Amino acid sequence: MKKKKNRKKAHTPKKSHSFFLANWLGSDIAIDLGTANIIVYVRKRGVVINEPAVIAVDKDTHKVVAIGSEAHAMLGRTPRHIQAYHPLQNGVIADYDATEYMLRYFIHKAIGKALLFKPRVIICVPSSITNVERRAVMEAAMQAGARKTVVMEEPLAAAIGAGLDVASSNGSMVVDIGGGTTDVAILSLSGIVISESLRIGGNTFDEDIIQYLEKIKHITIGQHTAEELKILIGTACKDGRSLTADVRGRSTETGLPVMMDIDSQEIRQALDESIQRILRAIVSILEKTPPELAADIADHGIVLTGGGLLLDGFDRLISQTTGMAAYLCDEPLLCVANGAGKALREMDRLKDSFDDA
Ligand code: ADP
Ligand code: MG
Repeated sequence: MKKKKNRKKAHTPKKSHSFFLANWLGSDIAIDLGTANIIVYVRKRGVVINEPAVIAVDKDTHKVVAIGSEAHAMLGRTPRHIQAYHPLQNGVIADYDATEYMLRYFIHKAIGKALLFKPRVIICVPSSITNVERRAVMEAAMQAGARKTVVMEEPLAAAIGAGLDVASSNGSMVVDIGGGTTDVAILSLSGIVISESLRIGGNTFDEDIIQYLEKIKHITIGQHTAEELKILIGTACKDGRSLTADVRGRSTETGLPVMMDIDSQEIRQALDESIQRILRAIVSILEKTPPELAADIADHGIVLTGGGLLLDGFDRLISQTTGMAAYLCDEPLLCVANGAGKALREMDRLKDSFDDA
C-alpha cells in the first residue's frame, strides 16, 4: 500500500489547493496570444503557462504530435512527414484550425475542465488581426469552454501591465515588439487614440541575421542559431555591448560545415534596416499625437514592452531618437498577460474597451 502511494506521488504533478478550488468554482483567465509565445494567466494564481506558440503536425495522418515547448524544440529538425510551425505569423492567423487547437489545449492545460462555472476569458491578440480573425479567436475560446470571451487590444493590456493608470486622461505611449509585429500606440481614457502596427518583430531580426551572414560572411545558419546570436551578443547601438561568438553553419561556397567569429557590431548592422523602420514608426506616431497628449508623454516617457525590446541598447536608442525617456517595463515578456490579468479584476469598469462577444 505504502509503496503504491509513493509511486503515485512521484509521478503526479503537484496541484495546489487553490488549483482544485479554482477549478471547482471556474476561474477567469487572460491569454496573451502572441506570435512567438502564448501566456495564460489565471485569476488568483497568476501566470501558469508560458510556452512558445508552436504546433507540430503529422502531415500524413493530420494529427497534432506536439504543442508548445515540445513542438518548438522540433523546429527545423523534423522528419519529412512532421511539420512544426507558428500558427500565428506576422501578427495574422496563418492557420486557423491550428490556432484553435492550440488555444483549446492551453485553456484546458491551465484550468482543466471547469466543473461548476465556465471561465470568462480575456484574449489579447496582435492589433493587426482582422475582424474575421478576431471573431475566429473568440469562437475558439468559446469552443474551448469559455462562458464569455472578450478581445482586448494588446497595447492597452501592456499599459495596464506596466502599471500605468490607463483610465486617466493622461496620454501614454506604448511600444510593443513581439515575435512578428511591432505595435506603437498612444492611449488615453482606457482607449487607443492612435496606433500603428508593423509586420516587423523579433523573428524579422532573426531573418535579418541569417541574410546578412549569408551575404557578407558566406555562411548559412538556422533560425535557432540566429535567435541565439541576437540574444547573446546582439545590440541596437553603436556604443552598445561588444561581444564575440563562435558560429557554426554551412559555407555557401563549399557547402561544408564551417565555424567563424561574429561580433556585436555585425549583428547591429544586420538589424539596422528593421530597427530604423521601427524608429521611423515611433517618430511618425509622435508627430501625429495631439499636443496635450504629446506633452504628457514627454513628461512620463515611453513604455517599452515585448521580447524584441530586450535587445541590448534598444531602449537607449529610442530615447536618443525621440529625445524622450523610454523605459522597459518589468517582465517585458509577461507584461501583456499581467495587464490582462489585472483587467480581469476590473472587467466591469473597463467594459467599454472590450469588444463584447
Ligand atoms: P509575442 O508577443 O509575439 O509572442 P514576445 O513578446 O514573447 O512575442 O517576444 C518574442 C521575441 O522576443 C522573440 O523574437 C525573441 O527572440 C525575442 N527575445 C526574447 N528575449 C530576448 C532578448 N534577451 N534579446 C533580444 N530578443 C529577445
Ligand atoms: Mg506580444
